[in-house]
Amino acid sequence: MDEFELVAQYFSQGRVQAGVRTGIGDDGAVLEGVPGQDLVVVTDTLVSGVHFATEHSAGDIGHKALAVNLSDIAAMGASAGWALLNLTLPRADTVWLENFSAALLELADRFGVALIGGDTTRGPLSISVTVGGWVPSGQALTRQGASTGEDIYISGTLGEAAAALALGLDCQQQLTLLEGELLHRLARPEPRVDLGIVLRTLATAAIDISDGLLADLGHVLAASGQLGASITAEALPLSPAACKLLGKEAALSHALAGGDDFELCFTVPPERRLAVATLARSSGLTLTCIGTVTPGGGVIVSQGGAPHVAVESGYRHHWQADG
Ligand code: ADP
Ligand code: MG
Repeated sequence: MDEFELVAQYFSQGRVQAGVRTGIGDDGAVLEGVPGQDLVVVTDTLVSGVHFATEHSAGDIGHKALAVNLSDIAAMGASAGWALLNLTLPRADTVWLENFSAALLELADRFGVALIGGDTTRGPLSISVTVGGWVPSGQALTRQGASTGEDIYISGTLGEAAAALALGLDCQQQLTLLEGELLHRLARPEPRVDLGIVLRTLATAAIDISDGLLADLGHVLAASGQLGASITAEALPLSPAACKLLGKEAALSHALAGGDDFELCFTVPPERRLAVATLARSSGLTLTCIGTVTPGGGVIVSQGGAPHVAVESGYRHHWQADG
């Protein structure tokens, strides 16, 4: 199978996409501009052995490769428009490709994303996705903009993906219902795109939690001007499944420092509390206030009124410097 056959067979969405003049099959894709809108572009790469293990299912990898990008689009308050897929494959494994592309295109269809092109090469398995989306001009939600005294909110629950990793769960095991819930959060994260769009008019800053709450909230506070935060441990939306399987202390430390949840963390002036509550009801998402922005002094997590023991603040790649 050559590259053309492979792309035609597995990556054709089979329908006309709004705003796409020329899609897959030419030297480049041609998109209509959208008057009054800014283009938001995000990209993320998943490398086998680094971001997932070879035993991960092809469907989970296909879903996650697009989902992590849509999560960045959500954190910017944009609506998703199109995607480019750069695929490096060790071989053309038809069963793998079938499952990978079905999950990726299912997510793309659900969010109205047109796959407009990409590249296919041979080599160690690696998937790089670029997504473009639109926001009304000047209204992108960024990490800057939080102010002292604002409420800090989290969507959904935290620490479930990290709990799945800590328990060493994978799809080849026989899992209990609770274990299955945790693994689902790690393998099939749900990007909060609809929430991000509404937050454009409510939140002052936002970020998606990919590296852990403490690390990612730290990025918002730094970008907003070396601010701090006071977080109440009891307020954190812990995972019931993680609490049952690992105990409350472990669930708490996964909620603070575990990555891969892909929930949104955002700041809102206190006078908009009612609007956030209304949004929670209409969206069906849990939106939890976990603390407030302070003038400085880092992130302080208190439990029972006293400062909580410091935890590792999230995942970071460390590069080995040459020479
Ligand atoms: P070129 O040599 O001009 O870069 P390619 O042969 O690499 O063209 O690709 C042919 C067409 O298929 C292009 O439109 C490209 O965007 C698309 N394409 C290639 N690989 C993928 C992929 N993995 N997913 C989606 N589209 C792809
Ligand atoms: Mg090419």
